[in-house]
Amino acid sequence: MSTNSERRSVLVTGSTRGIGFEVARRFHASGWVVGVNGRDPEAVASAAVRLGEDAVPCAFDVTDPDATVRAIGAFARGAGGLDAVVACAGIMKDAPLGMITKPLVSDVLGTNIAGAIYTTQAASRVMARKRTGSIVLFGSIAGEDGAGGQVVYSASKAAVSGIARSAAKELGPRGIRVNAVIPGIIDTDLIESLSDEARSDLVAVTPLGRLGRVDDVAGAVSFLCTEDAKFITGQTLRIDGGIRLA
Ligand code: NDP
Repeated sequence: MSTNSERRSVLVTGSTRGIGFEVARRFHASGWVVGVNGRDPEAVASAAVRLGEDAVPCAFDVTDPDATVRAIGAFARGAGGLDAVVACAGIMKDAPLGMITKPLVSDVLGTNIAGAIYTTQAASRVMARKRTGSIVLFGSIAGEDGAGGQVVYSASKAAVSGIARSAAKELGPRGIRVNAVIPGIIDTDLIESLSDEARSDLVAVTPLGRLGRVDDVAGAVSFLCTEDAKFITGQTLRIDGGIRLA
């Protein structure tokens, strides 16, 4: 791996597939050293191989704060710095209100809220040393608009905006920016259970007339980590083709 400190580096949690992989691919194609993450070491290694040289496998579970601190610290040492962290890791588990269980609440809030907090905490510790860095968190339109059967997921994603705004206030004086992207319906494994009819219904209420693609989100994430976004912090950016969940 290159350790040239001029080279920019980013760790993307949840980047073995879906949106996170595309975010990692985009940074890698722009010459960044990229930390690839997920819980399954084999999937992480395989994603890093698919990207190529200077893609660094970093398997850890974002619900484990100690593992998250260790892995982000080790990645930053190897890469010679840490310019950006993208907290893309997330899970979605649907259940109508009456069927919500304690393990479901614990899994979803643990990954989507606590995981985002631990990732932000670990990233900020490293970034504060150089007084610069960009952190991008992942909310969802379900967190803003609500969605039937997604009380827990919506709650977890609504919380992300609060994390971004509060962390932006706390970390701004240390030169660290924190923003959140709010994807609409993006065609990945996460939404594989959606029927064709449900997909058509969603497209029908999307002014731009299609489901989102992973590159739609990756472009916005990459912008938030560039110099062009150097005065943007505490923001939530919807990337949703104009949809408002009915
Ligand atoms: P995918 O299910 O395709 O990918 C999720 C990624 O997160 C995988 O790499 C997965 O790897 C990883 N992951 C899950 N749990 C953990 C964990 N505890 N620690 C580390 N990695 C973990 O999801 P998408 O790409 O569709 O979604 C990415 C993000 O965007 C999520 O936060 C999601 O909530 C959000 N989002 C997605 C939308 C969509 O329509 N697709 C809409 C709005 C928001 P592994 O399971 O191997 O650990």
